[in-house]
Amino acid sequence: MSKLHYVAIARLYGYVHTHCEVHKTYDVAVASLVESFSLNSTDTGRLKRDGHLEPQQRKVSYRYYDITECYCSRPEQHTES
Ligand SMILES: [Zn+2]
Repeated sequence: MSKLHYVAIARLYGYVHTHCEVHKTYDVAVASLVESFSLNSTDTGRLKRDGHLEPQQRKVSYRYYDITECYCSRPEQHTES
């Protein structure tokens, strides 16, 4: 059984902790970040294509998003503080 999971990260300005989620599929990880941070269609397309996004909008408070593959045996560790 594959341990593959996707770790979705959003690093925010002004926050000590990074927003971190674990998802079973890439598409779900993208959709979750889009939903959580109300990404526009341009940013959504870039995130989905690249697995990485540095939004251009100045008004928002985030620095970048990342979605990475991970094969560790303890997916829950990513969301433990
Ligand atoms: Zn992992």
